[in-house]
Amino acid sequence: MAMSTQKSQHNNTWHTLAPEAALEQLATSLEGLSAEDVAARLRTYGPNRLRPPQRTPAWQRFLQQFHNVLIYILLIAGLATALLQHWIDTGVILAVVVVNALIGFVQEGKAEKALEAISRMLSLNATVVRGGQRQTVPAEDLVPGDIVVLRSGDKVPADLRLLEVRELRIDEAMLTGESVPAEKATAAQPEMTTVGDRHGVAFSGTLVTSGTGKGMVIATGDATEIGKISALVSQTEMITTPLIRQMGQFGHVLAMVIVVFAALTFALGYFARGTPAVEMFMAAVALAVAAIPEGLPAIMTIVLAIGVQRMARRNAIIRRLPAVDTLGALTVVCSDKTGTLTRNEMTVTRVVTRAGEWEITGVGYAPEGAVRAGEGQTAESSAEVMQELLRAGALCNDADVIERDGAWQSEGDPMEGALLTLAMKAGLDPATERRRWETRDAIPFESRNRFMATLHRNPAGGALVLVKGGPERLVEMCARQIGPDGEQDFDAAFWQAEADRLAARGTRVLAIARGVAQPEQHSLDFKQVQHGLTMLGLFGIIDPPRSEAIAAVRQCHAAGIRVVMITGDHALTARAIGRELGIGDGEHALTGQQLDELAPDDLRKAAADVEVFARVSPEHKLRLVEAIQACGEVVAMTGDGVNDAPALKRADVGIAMGIKGTEVSKEAAEMVLTDDNFASIAHAVEEGRTVYDNLRKALLFILPTNGGEALTIFFAILLGLALPLTPVQVLWINMITAVTLALALAFEPPEAEVMKRNPRDPRAGLLSAYFLWRIGLVSVIMCAGTFGMFAWLQAQGATEELARTVAVNTMVMFEAFYLLNTRFIFAPVLNARGLFGSRPVLLAIGLVVLFQILFTYAPFMQQLFGTEPLALRHWLLLIAVAVTVLFIVELEKWIMRRRGTA
Ligand code: ADP
Ligand code: MG
Repeated sequence: MAMSTQKSQHNNTWHTLAPEAALEQLATSLEGLSAEDVAARLRTYGPNRLRPPQRTPAWQRFLQQFHNVLIYILLIAGLATALLQHWIDTGVILAVVVVNALIGFVQEGKAEKALEAISRMLSLNATVVRGGQRQTVPAEDLVPGDIVVLRSGDKVPADLRLLEVRELRIDEAMLTGESVPAEKATAAQPEMTTVGDRHGVAFSGTLVTSGTGKGMVIATGDATEIGKISALVSQTEMITTPLIRQMGQFGHVLAMVIVVFAALTFALGYFARGTPAVEMFMAAVALAVAAIPEGLPAIMTIVLAIGVQRMARRNAIIRRLPAVDTLGALTVVCSDKTGTLTRNEMTVTRVVTRAGEWEITGVGYAPEGAVRAGEGQTAESSAEVMQELLRAGALCNDADVIERDGAWQSEGDPMEGALLTLAMKAGLDPATERRRWETRDAIPFESRNRFMATLHRNPAGGALVLVKGGPERLVEMCARQIGPDGEQDFDAAFWQAEADRLAARGTRVLAIARGVAQPEQHSLDFKQVQHGLTMLGLFGIIDPPRSEAIAAVRQCHAAGIRVVMITGDHALTARAIGRELGIGDGEHALTGQQLDELAPDDLRKAAADVEVFARVSPEHKLRLVEAIQACGEVVAMTGDGVNDAPALKRADVGIAMGIKGTEVSKEAAEMVLTDDNFASIAHAVEEGRTVYDNLRKALLFILPTNGGEALTIFFAILLGLALPLTPVQVLWINMITAVTLALALAFEPPEAEVMKRNPRDPRAGLLSAYFLWRIGLVSVIMCAGTFGMFAWLQAQGATEELARTVAVNTMVMFEAFYLLNTRFIFAPVLNARGLFGSRPVLLAIGLVVLFQILFTYAPFMQQLFGTEPLALRHWLLLIAVAVTVLFIVELEKWIMRRRGTA
């Protein structure tokens, strides 16, 4: 056996074998492998996991850090100072270059790790048969010979030789480029068949778009077809978003402009003024270095990475980073009802038959409660009708209800779980019934069909068909009904009216019917269940709204976001639930059918007005997204099924469900909710807006430092004074203090009003006219203080070194106070929360004060940066000057708030 399985990983001819032969090859059967076999094979073949993509080697990533305009300027400056034998300057410049690269390297690595950890949270599971039992295992644990069950929506977890298929279609675009899903079969094929035509093989990583199937694992991990071309999957995303890219481009242009400007300044000083070349060169370098915001790209990356991490902690996993930008600009959220807005904990509360009505007490899946006869009980035999109906509900059913740690839970579809609980409340044992009425075949539920059908062996002889689904759908399929005295002619009006009555109370309605089958029939045919059925009755099922969803809907409304509910349920149910959730006006609801009849213009109008859409199929979702987008909105859409994928892709932010969502929908989505909860969407929006705010705050914080420094140096050059800040001192301010302080902004929590303002305009860049004003204002304040202190000390006869030390310290203290201003863009910070509310901010300021003490008093720092010790009065004076920025900016904010700019 070891021999033959060993071969399997490299065997490329599985399609030429019939299923039985294939099973034999790997010494397995439809019952699956035993636990020991699995363990042994796992040791032989290793986990079913692709070799992680080749990462760029560390030294290469380190070198990449040097590829940037600023570094080039610094290297030229370093070279020039070396030629001039200014060794200390050369040393400091080179040290700064290396330290900068190191910091960038480490931060980038951290950000990447954080994002990797998040993407690992979306690991894949597989359904296998082992030792005759179906079970769910991590896809990583699959071994050759395992029997894997596939159903529509799954991602194929390994290469499989198919053994059974039922309407199985698989999207193999990622492997073959073919966009039409391939139809699968089990028959053997000639050896020459190309990969794209091998209908008997399902390839790892491809997506099941419809049907079901069973296959045997033939290759895992790197031995799979996709593993062989893993170059395809090894592309890693850059840590960026369109907004940040835009900023990066802006930064490049800015740097170029600054370099040209510095060169002009040099020419001016050297040719027009006759300043010595060396001196003028150092001045030009100082100007260039001062004006370029070196630390900004690193800060932006970190803000983004921290934001994404924070979203993950709040159950929203970002799969594509650009979605972070879009989240902050959302104007409409379209959400599924069941499970996202509601709890998905279903309870049958009412049963309607033609022979009377029953009421059921007790909530949840625990089989505790009573089945009580309600109105209209007409005959003794009604109990029999009820019995058949309850049994049918338990048989036409894939779920299980189990007790775990004292809590009853539904495994599988919650609505089906509710039917099992109901049967148990009435004293039926689902397991016994299922054994007696063995299931021979099934057509699984798909929201497009809106029904599910099963074929059973009848213990009394023959076979029985059961169909359950939406009442309108079943009414079309029925020709008879069960009445008090047995079968009778079908009364469609009665069932329609009863279904509406149940729906109007906000309960979901499920109808169930039986059909006849040939005694020896073993497979069920779609056409066979389409007509001639006999209606048994209706179930009314409650699914209460999540209380946190009610709050989240309110929050979205306050944030200027429209919430649209989309459901496959009855319009009356949808309206009633919408009313409880605060979605829609409780009056209007459009059905899928009505949508179909609308002209494109009217559809757009409806999309702008109506907030509840019922009896909607996934195809309608796509049309709705498009109609809403046509109104200029930015739309998020949730989805879980295979057919939701196009709508998720089309939406600006596609949101998939982590728990009940199919792999297909997750692949199509930008974001995955780990708890399937609508409230998490609101949280993600909040965090998305916060990331955007924090990016803007980082800009707003860093740019004035550069502006202030550049102005200071420019004035000195213009007036022919000594430089108030030397190039190495500027490097110190920009690379050490500014970056340390700005980092604290990445941790800023959401501002209090972040969910009370309207969505941002998606076309607006990060910098607004107002921001430019604020940056200009603060630049001028910083320049005035720094230049003023320097000029004043010089006028008093202080040494250049002392005056510069004061200038640098003034600049850094300006930064520290201004950091406090920047915590809130418009809101005041002169209060306890504003000044002391953020630990990272206080930590960063403390650290920077420590840096400045070293900078001023440590002998080696004095050597490197040409500083001199300050007296206490210097400190008092410069702090008094620096603190002005705090008050002036707060005053400016106050005026802006009064004028209503904010
Ligand atoms: P939603 O969009 O609210 O999740 P679904 O598309 O899941 O709605 O369901 C729509 C309708 O399809 C339900 O109201 C019910 O009548 C029917 N239905 C849902 N699940 C099943 C099932 N497992 N078997 C049969 N019918 C179902
Ligand atoms: Mg559903």
